[in-house]
Amino acid sequence: MSRKVSLIRGDGIGPEIVDATVSVIEALGVDLEWEEVRAGSGAYKDLGTPLPEETLLSIARNQCVLKGPLETPIGTGFRSINVAIRKHFDMYANVRPAKISPAMTTRFSDTNVDMVIVRENTEGAYAGIEHVIPPNRAAAETIILITRWACERIVRYAFEYARREGRSKVTLVHKANILKESNGLLLEVGQTIAREYDDIEFEDMIVDNCCMQMVIRPERFDVIVTENLFGDILSDLAAGLIGGLGLTPGANIGEGAAMFEAVHGTAPDIAGQGIANPTALMRSAGMMLGHLGYVNEGKLLEKAITKALASPSTRTGDLGGTANTKAYTQALISAIQEG
Ligand code: NAD
Repeated sequence: MSRKVSLIRGDGIGPEIVDATVSVIEALGVDLEWEEVRAGSGAYKDLGTPLPEETLLSIARNQCVLKGPLETPIGTGFRSINVAIRKHFDMYANVRPAKISPAMTTRFSDTNVDMVIVRENTEGAYAGIEHVIPPNRAAAETIILITRWACERIVRYAFEYARREGRSKVTLVHKANILKESNGLLLEVGQTIAREYDDIEFEDMIVDNCCMQMVIRPERFDVIVTENLFGDILSDLAAGLIGGLGLTPGANIGEGAAMFEAVHGTAPDIAGQGIANPTALMRSAGMMLGHLGYVNEGKLLEKAITKALASPSTRTGDLGGTANTKAYTQALISAIQEG
């Protein structure tokens, strides 16, 4: 019997990279049935809401969603729908691997970048507790909410992930020297839980130093666990290390549902041109296949990606190649068919 998965095509380059990803999954022969639902700016324009109830019901039923990027108005307008979905389903662990591909030469090719950022996904500065102080927006406050409970579950998730994936070190990234209460709590919890995992090395690092270390010695990182805002920023930094946002996948994991999406956004500057790189979403789909138990198909997909990335004639423009989205996708499908 086929496995149903909710599918959100999204805004900007979303439909282009989602269609490419769906055709590659079909080529893998995975028996998935897509249930397409709407969200984001497109949904807001067409349906009057950026997050229809039907979308939430579909994700609840299928417990799994593959999502293209969604536009969030900057400064004003509705709040991020990405954040809303993650919070609604309590998808507390945002897992973002960044591994350099042997197929391509990048600025960091001579280093062994292979790190996974585990980002707390429900609170911190993204808890949505903000307000303006009158008159005339004289000031504004955003509260960084950090609870012991959420720290415990994200740090434990990171250690369990490290164990399951055969990784050897967890680095907890924080700013406890300045944010002594909120980040101090995260650090204290991390140090306590680390004692339960004596097979995994543990260290903590201040976020500013971490940024510098990620650039000059990226190979020293294995699993990074951190709070919401730092995780968001560090994962873009990690994407830069491996060749760009077009390559970096992400999974949002909760007890009741999981959402798979690229780290990047809607790329409005290239939307509709047919030149977007779908690799990040395809790798997110690869993580989804592993999550659903299609482990071999996930590996086959990564093998095909490595093959297609190896030649500039089948790589997209953001990676210095000459292929458009369709040509790259076709190269992947051919690589899958060749086995
Ligand atoms: P962005 O990630 O969309 O784009 C940053 C740069 O990277 C752009 O130059 C873009 O062309 C390039 N890029 C991104 N993905 C690419 C791809 N697959 N192939 C080739 N080039 C790619 O970031 P932004 O411009 O800051 O944000 C645009 C919109 O996306 C905003 O509304 C933002 O809120 C939203 N956003 C959504 C998500 C999500 O849905 N999870 C994540 C980040 C940003």
